[in-house]
Amino acid sequence: MEKDCIFCQIAHGRTDTEILTETDTLVVFKDINPHAPVHLLFVPKKHIRSINDLTSADQEILSELIMVARDMAKEHGVSKSGYKLLYNVEKGGGQLVFHLHLHLIGGWH
Ligand code: 5GP
Ligand code: ZN
Repeated sequence: MEKDCIFCQIAHGRTDTEILTETDTLVVFKDINPHAPVHLLFVPKKHIRSINDLTSADQEILSELIMVARDMAKEHGVSKSGYKLLYNVEKGGGQLVFHLHLHLIGGWH
């Protein structure tokens, strides 16, 4: 855990952010500034800066992020209508929080 990292603080229960789902590996919560009716963030408990910093030891984290996102899409009623899964990578890719996270965005009418 990096003490100055907001997503480390959220993932380790140090904030009042509502956690929608938690596993040994990750937490899920709503984006504070949603870009769509459904905008969830899937955040590993392990501090990894971005996709660039993944190692082969992190493969299970990556697959769990996607599988839990798939399940949460269903739970939030956007499986059939469709949704985006997005990783922003570094500043040029729009990353603002430098702790790896997967966006699930959907629910447009
Ligand atoms: P990025 O641009 O780094 O891929 O996305 C970071 C996302 O995290 C943004 O969409 C932003 O709204 C969200 N965010 C930043 N700080 C917080 C926070 O403290 N709580 C929550 N729930 N979302 C946050
Ligand atoms: Zn962190």
